[in-house]
Amino acid sequence: MNSLRFKALQEAIARQPIDVELPSNRVSDFFGINVFSYDVMQKYLSESVFKTLKAAIDSNTSIDRPTADEVAIAMKTWALDKGVTHYTHWFQPLTGATAEKHDVFLDVVDGKAIERFGGGQLVQQEPDASSFPSGGIRSTFEARGYTGWDPSSPAFIFGKTLCIPTIYISYTGEALDYKTPLLKALNALNKAAVPVCNYFDKNVKKVIATLGWEQEYFLVDEILFSARPDLVHSGRALFGANPAKGQQLEDHYFGSIPERVNEFMRDFETESYKLGIPIKTRHNEVAPNQYEVAPIFEEANIAVDHNQLLMDLMDKVARRHHLRVLFYEKPFAGVNGSGKHNNWSMATGSGKNLLSPGKTPETNLQFLTFFVNTIKAVYDNADILRASIASAGNEHRLGANEAPPAIISVFIGEQLTKVLDGFEKKVKGGKSSEKKSIKLDIGHIPELTLDNTDRNRTSPFAFTGNKFEFRAVGSSANCAQAMLVLNAIVADQLTKFKAEVDGLIKKSTSTEDAIIQTLRSYITASANIRFEGNNYSKEWVKEAAKRGLPNIQTTPEALEAFVTNKAIKLFETQSIFSKGEQEARHEIQAEIYTKKIQIESRIMADMALTQIIPAALKYQNLLITNVKGIKDIFTTSRSLAGVEVKS
Ligand code: ADP
Ligand code: MG
Repeated sequence: MNSLRFKALQEAIARQPIDVELPSNRVSDFFGINVFSYDVMQKYLSESVFKTLKAAIDSNTSIDRPTADEVAIAMKTWALDKGVTHYTHWFQPLTGATAEKHDVFLDVVDGKAIERFGGGQLVQQEPDASSFPSGGIRSTFEARGYTGWDPSSPAFIFGKTLCIPTIYISYTGEALDYKTPLLKALNALNKAAVPVCNYFDKNVKKVIATLGWEQEYFLVDEILFSARPDLVHSGRALFGANPAKGQQLEDHYFGSIPERVNEFMRDFETESYKLGIPIKTRHNEVAPNQYEVAPIFEEANIAVDHNQLLMDLMDKVARRHHLRVLFYEKPFAGVNGSGKHNNWSMATGSGKNLLSPGKTPETNLQFLTFFVNTIKAVYDNADILRASIASAGNEHRLGANEAPPAIISVFIGEQLTKVLDGFEKKVKGGKSSEKKSIKLDIGHIPELTLDNTDRNRTSPFAFTGNKFEFRAVGSSANCAQAMLVLNAIVADQLTKFKAEVDGLIKKSTSTEDAIIQTLRSYITASANIRFEGNNYSKEWVKEAAKRGLPNIQTTPEALEAFVTNKAIKLFETQSIFSKGEQEARHEIQAEIYTKKIQIESRIMADMALTQIIPAALKYQNLLITNVKGIKDIFTTSRSLAGVEVKS
């Protein structure tokens, strides 16, 4: 009863929820108060500079130095008004975490202290690049690396520090982070998608990718967490037995949220709102102590930054509640692991969702164009998409009967399957029915409209009505990795599509016929990637093999897809990565994988030697004493239960 674990349990059970007070009952009162938003800019910048900055952000063009100088002064004034003392470039190196190096606003001029922050400090900084993963691009003796301001993601205040989202590149220009290639991929998508939109609408000038992630996580009381060196050092229980009651009763999912957890959620949500992160949803997940948080979707670059920021924030806020957050993909064997579904779509600058089918998808040629091209891109590049979600942690989750398998396939639902079949066969069939409704004869409850697609929770890449949901992304991943690959392959596909359609138009086919003809050939060519059944079944593994779909089980094998000739050509053509950058990234990821496994095995050895073997020996000694005692009884007493015993 005096064991460490028992004491820990006593302490954990005695904890009370920590009440959180909201700055106001209306979230809109404090949403974004710590963001250098357009509203703030308008207040702190002259009208002309504000207009120049906004135009540059909207059209993705570079900002000149005089403008940057004025923006820096405005940022500094705003930050000082809010009690901020330091600033940092905030970036996302390939470690997976975010990085920051704080500098105080102070400068000393002629012996006099002043607060200084100018365009120079805003636009560029030079952190040492040799201590971040670079895959051999940087060695210790050539350490220069630069961070560069990303004006498309607003600066924000975290604690008492002004944080400026930046990219991070080496002295020789190679990307050393997640943001640089993501921005390039988003740029490539814009470049490829606008001309395709222009077939349908000449006014479209900009296409963006949208992302709404769903973040799953586990919570553990800090004292129970501290009693497990494996959780502390690897985020995962390396030893253990299944509890008698796990998730069998399915009583946790969407269950009532425990009060202590609820206060933690309210706390980090409040902090998120102040930072302009539009959190929308919270609920219990399937496994005991597993939860989910999801925001309203945003432009992909900002959504990625917000997810990275949120993970950091959740970790910090959890400590105030004596909790620890686990983002590891499979912290406990025998119960579900955690993912981060990436809901993705494309939209025009004026906000029209390009993957919204409308009432009659078979006549909505623009929808079909983007829909079919996405499916074709996934079919042609399933291996690269698979590589984008490969990691040591996710390996334990994929294919474990709770998450999509390692085989990438696309689910589109019955109705759209009919539409594509009809389209392919040239017949006017495959008509989508009007939105069906379910009649519920229970009086006051209104009719529910049935969605365009049913759900398929087993599919790694599922169409869910007006967006695709990439469900195979791991919970600890930086979404940028999956997003840069997805946007890159779709950009590449749309580029090819445009070339084919223009080719046909040159041969005097009408634009509409050229589009239809090309889409029809894509539907046929990519039919094998479409799968509507149970992705967790053994039959699917066999069927997928017959279809020739890749089924890559391990991370090292999966990562190879980044350095095939196909991938190198694709990323080079779309101006996202050079061959050198790709090889370096491949090396970084393979190395991170190896190191993680190595750390886990070392922790296992430590725990075995310092905890398990001593406990086993102690138990063995107890048994020895017990056996000796029994022997004593039998040998010393002359009679046992009235039976004469001979010694
Ligand atoms: P569910 O998947 O449970 O049906 P939702 O339909 O609300 O939930 O969507 C889940 C996530 O998808 C949310 O983060 C939501 O903002 C996001 N989402 C919705 N529409 C889009 C879109 N057009 N592009 C990207 N993400 C979207
Ligand atoms: Mg969802």
